[in-house]
Amino acid sequence: MDNIAGVRSSGQRQVETETGEGFMKVTYYGHSCFAAQIANQTLLFDPFITGNELATGVDPNNIPADYILISHGHSDHLGDAGDIARRTGATIVSNYEIVQWFGKQGLLKAHPLNHGGGHTFDFGRVKFVNAIHSSSLPDGAYGGNPGGFIVESAEGNFYYSGDTALTWDMKLIGESTHLRFAALCIGDNFTMDFEDAIKAADFVRCREVLGLHFDTFPPIKINHQAALDKFKAAGKHLHLLHPGASHEF
Ligand SMILES: [Zn+2]
Repeated sequence: MDNIAGVRSSGQRQVETETGEGFMKVTYYGHSCFAAQIANQTLLFDPFITGNELATGVDPNNIPADYILISHGHSDHLGDAGDIARRTGATIVSNYEIVQWFGKQGLLKAHPLNHGGGHTFDFGRVKFVNAIHSSSLPDGAYGGNPGGFIVESAEGNFYYSGDTALTWDMKLIGESTHLRFAALCIGDNFTMDFEDAIKAADFVRCREVLGLHFDTFPPIKINHQAALDKFKAAGKHLHLLHPGASHEF
């Protein structure tokens, strides 16, 4: 059972993986790494477990993946991606430069996107959208430009912001896609803080928010209660999950 979610602790109660109606199962693995189950496929986002002291209960060798979606080139978003892709045979989906970089490491099962473009996979459609950030790769190579993802499927749609500032472009997402949830960075310093994330949730017209990119390092530690209260006061629901925990949106 514990290998399903890649969680070492067997005390973690598993949520039934029942796709098809009503909800979409999401598992959080710390920092900005989460997985969404769609059509019996696992979409894993920005795997960074090794080196994350808050995710020591998560075993990267047990995390399942059919697709690995990478928002930008920083090591806190792709540190475990190569190893997980090799073990699982997952398809890497990212910008063109990051896909090329993994290709040089022998990881050729990949699909490149660039901003504004999307592609229909077997589980649904993924569109690469704007993020305001930077994107150098761990060895200093050019990592293209950072982005976020909109995932649309028969089982529901969601948006992952990647690392970004609040941007007016997010309004375009709300105008065109009905989201079940939005996975947003909230930790401040390098990205939006939780107050800007509330505005982002308004822009994309979504009430259910999975908080990402907080607490991992001292500059992005946040006051959980203050964040939860602010979201609630704005009529929204912020989900702050422990690494290894799941939620159904
Ligand atoms: Zn980051």
